[in-house]
Order: sequence, then C-alpha cells, then structure tokens
Amino acid sequence: MLQGKSAVVTGSTSGIGLGIARALAKAGVNVMLNGFGDPAEIEVERTRIEREDKVMALYSPTDLRRPADIADMMKAAENAFGAVDIVVNNAGIQHVAPVEEFPVEKWEDIIAVNLSSTYHTVRAAIPGMKARGWGRVVNIASAHSLVASPFKTAYVSAKHGLAGFTKVVALEVAAFGITINCISPGYVWTPLVEKQIPDQMKTRNMNREQVIEVLLAAQPTKKFITIEQVAALTLYLCSDDAAPITGANLSIDGGFTAQ
Ligand code: NAD
Repeated sequence: MLQGKSAVVTGSTSGIGLGIARALAKAGVNVMLNGFGDPAEIEVERTRIEREDKVMALYSPTDLRRPADIADMMKAAENAFGAVDIVVNNAGIQHVAPVEEFPVEKWEDIIAVNLSSTYHTVRAAIPGMKARGWGRVVNIASAHSLVASPFKTAYVSAKHGLAGFTKVVALEVAAFGITINCISPGYVWTPLVEKQIPDQMKTRNMNREQVIEVLLAAQPTKKFITIEQVAALTLYLCSDDAAPITGANLSIDGGFTAQ
C-alpha cells in the first residue's frame, strides 16, 4: 500500500527512528536517513536497506539545529525521490537538571531539535503533499507531551509544543489528503534512555537499578515499550485506513498517562 512512496525520517541513525526507517523500507518506501553516528556504520545500514528492501536509501548528516541545512535536506530528498510523501519527525535529545541549573545551550538545543526542526521539515514538505493530494506526517512526541516529570523543563516544553503544533497543522491541511499526528511513547529501551541514567543517578542520588525502577514505576505494565511497537503504529498512521486520524496524540505508554 505504501510501495513506491518516499519518506524522510529524522534521527534515524539510532533507536526508534532507525526502527521506523527499517519498517518503512520493508513496506517498500524509499527512505532518507538522518542523524549522527559513525559514517561507516551508517553506510552499512544504508546499503543493507537498499539491497534487502529494494528501495532507495539516502543519508543526510544534517544537524537539525540548523534551519537552512534542514531546507537543503528536504530539497535533496525531493530531488532524489521525486517526492516526499511521508515525514517522520523523530529526532530528540534530553537533558535532566533542575530549572535553575538548566544550561542555556541545552535548553536552546532541545527546543531546536525536539520542536523547531519539525516546523522546518513540515513547512518544506507541505507544498508538495498538497500538490499531490496525499501526505503523512508522524511526530514522535512522548508521554511528556501530556504529563510532566521534574528536571525535564526543556524536553517537556518541547514535547507539549509539538502536540500543539500538530493540532494546528492538522486543521490547516485536513482538506488536502494530508494527516499529521503525534505518537507519544512511554519508556522505550533505546540509547536515549540508556544515556540519561547516569544523570538521573546523580540528580536523584540513586544506583542504576533504583533509577530503572523509578522509570518503570510510572509505567503500569512495568515493561519497556519496544522500538518495533512504535514503528508498527507509525506504519498504521501512514496507511489509508488511518486517513481520518489527524491532529491526534496517540499514547503508546503502557498506561503511563492513564494515571
Ligand atoms: P536515540 O538517542 O536513540 O536517537 C536519537 C536520534 O536523533 C539519533 O539518530 C541522533 O543522531 C539524532 N539526533 C540527535 N540530535 C540531532 C541533531 N541535532 N541533528 C540530527 N539528528 C540528531 O533516541 P530515541 O530514544 O530513539 O528517541 C527518538 C525519539 O523518541 C525522540 O524524539 C524521543 O524524545 C522520543 N521518545 C523516546 C522515548 C524513549 O523511551 N526512548 C520515550 C518517549 C519519546
């Protein structure tokens, strides 16, 4: 059903984004990978996708803190694929500190990557989607787009902003065959979670096991969500069955935000 379509997936060199890019490619979608990482490892993944999934796979090292570079990445995808039908705004970073100690540069970076980059990819993709009468934007938000946790001011602000941005654009493009939605995962076991554990240990004065227990305490299922489960929901939102779902913020959080 998605065969022959083309997608840009931000932050797809790792974690959830990589899982989504792999799932889209398996469904026959050309993919533009983006993110940081070891160029040799990324090239191995890119060529593996092309070989095994028989789609075009490109890689852009664009730093999503740079609006002009995002515009160039979107243009490059459109030129190479002929269209950008699907945009998955997945890239995200985290920093954990009390508000009065929160470093200014970390605040700026988190807002740029987790929120503003979505505005830049969306504004580039919408004209082509409107012209073709079909488009899908999936924004990977978070349970923290709905509820807060201490020490995450920038992240929670950015994710709440993403949910608001999604609703506004949904209203603007609803009549053009374009949907835009948020997916809000609870804790998914990825490098992003792994990386915040040392900071949390320091801030909360706890050992590793205690921090993991605290993370999963908020998740009634007491299980991390898998990358594949988030990728499957993304694919569903890209399907024609999901055409009436727009402006939504779908929780996939083991009951996290039901409490
Ligand atoms: P991750 O750290 O594994 O991957 C993040 C990706 O973003 C990487 O590819 C990285 O290179 C890229 N990236 C970071 N800064 C970038 C920049 N300036 N320019 C370009 N690319 C950049 O993280 P993840 O856990 O897979 O998270 C993916 C998304 O899911 C994030 O938006 C995150 O907030 C959200 N999320 C994650 C969880 C979780 O538990 N892991 C829960 C809820 C929401």
